Amino acid sequence: MSTQALLEFPSHNPATGEVLTSYPNANQADVDAAVARAHASKQAWQALGFKGRKKVLDKWTSLISERMGELADLVALETGKPHSDAALEISLAIGHLAWAAKHAEKYLAPVNRNPGLLMANMKARVERAPYGVVGVIGPWNYPVFTPMGSIAYSLAAGNTIVFKPSEYTPGVGVWLGATFAEVAPFPDIFHVVTGLSTTGVALTQSAVDKIAFTGSTRTAKKVAATAAERMIPVVLECGGKDPVIIDRDANVKKAAEYALWMAMSNAGQTCIGAERVYVHTAVADEFIREIGAMARELHPGVNKSYGPATMPSQLNVIQSHIDDAAAKGAKFLVGGTDSVHAPFVEPTIMLDVPEDSTAITEETFGPTLTINRVADMEEAVRLSNATRYGLGASVWSKRNGEKIASQLIAGMVSINSVIGFAGIATVPFGGVKDSGYGRIHGPEGLHEFTYLRSVVSERFAIPIAFTTFKRTKFADRMITGLTRLLHK
Ligand code: NDP
Repeated sequence: MSTQALLEFPSHNPATGEVLTSYPNANQADVDAAVARAHASKQAWQALGFKGRKKVLDKWTSLISERMGELADLVALETGKPHSDAALEISLAIGHLAWAAKHAEKYLAPVNRNPGLLMANMKARVERAPYGVVGVIGPWNYPVFTPMGSIAYSLAAGNTIVFKPSEYTPGVGVWLGATFAEVAPFPDIFHVVTGLSTTGVALTQSAVDKIAFTGSTRTAKKVAATAAERMIPVVLECGGKDPVIIDRDANVKKAAEYALWMAMSNAGQTCIGAERVYVHTAVADEFIREIGAMARELHPGVNKSYGPATMPSQLNVIQSHIDDAAAKGAKFLVGGTDSVHAPFVEPTIMLDVPEDSTAITEETFGPTLTINRVADMEEAVRLSNATRYGLGASVWSKRNGEKIASQLIAGMVSINSVIGFAGIATVPFGGVKDSGYGRIHGPEGLHEFTYLRSVVSERFAIPIAFTTFKRTKFADRMITGLTRLLHK
């Protein structure tokens, strides 16, 4: 039976395999109906203006904060991540929601522009108008934080939304939709459709005006291709192969502690997680000793250091990357080819990993890390950039952090810290190359969900008219003369 024909699908606890609840598997007609309702409500949502929308979003912020524990329970259940990690994710998402609500007016307000000397009798301004209905397709690894980067900024900008959560975390999506409905002044501002991948396809084929997608590069390309047929824009947040660069003057102990967390937390299922370390030979032994000792203290399990692989098929990818590295001669500092014990994966750190192994070239999305020594920072930068991805990076150096950061082909860089940019609402989040394009978060994240409308009008009439068939020879001479005067 095709997945489209299924009326319902179950969500599971990935740690135990237990079936939690079943959710509707929305088909094309269901999705089209949701999008039509979102279109019907968009004018009323836009008419509320920034202040009216802020009131609604502020209420939603308070409601989520109040019931954070309940949401964290659900996130922990559907993803398998520790409850405290779920709570941290929700806190960050709330921060973004509050920021977007508060700052939309400031960053989306019309801006007056200078009309120039030749058009001095005109006034000109640039407006930012919401697209209309935005389709949001979310992932399972951070089922609140990640889609909220599109949902909050898009709503604040005046769009209505149809959100398709991942099939692994439908309950979290439904919870977000239900709590929004409690504060909404009218229905269909933020609508959630659950389903399998066919529901995602249906959303990309529906009458949405923009799509915000987070997930794999492979699926992102399909989404972009479908969107191109209707000429609708997309924002794509895809995977990464983020490097951690450690220079000889780095605080090595701290770098090891933070790189380990960046690699292993959430079972490595973080698009901006550490996957590769390039460490200066002068401090490599110390770094390897430190990170190895700390990694041996980590244990996956329910409410332990980190949880299971949320998506069972990911275990095959992780195993194949470990096997490929081992076959090509990598050594194991921690873990080995027997690290995968479904649904959990023991921390696995590989040393001297050939640069052509899949553990270096492909996104692993597991609690694994490669560590390779480099002679200098030039080599570190060259190897860091030699990937099809360009999402985030972390640089550790007391003196050269800024210089190294400026040479990285990446959308986001943390210096002497890790993934700080995700929690700072004022900076945009996104990547280059196969990591996607477009931005969520910050002023640019608000801009992403609007299109530009230039509006010009006559301030006063002048005797010489240019844009008419009645233009005189004198007007022609004026244009030529003025242009020469201005641009000689
Ligand atoms: P996908 O890219 O396949 O799925 C992401 C979202 O897109 C899900 O909601 C999914 O629905 C939906 N979807 C799937 N196929 C289509 C389609 N053709 N058109 C529209 N929407 C679609 O990722 P997976 O969850 O399968 O994970 C695969 C890999 O992607 C991981 O191994 C990881 O490397 C990477 N990934 C990266 C993430 C990031 O944060 N950048 C997040 C998640 C994954 P459904 O869940 O129902 O299939």
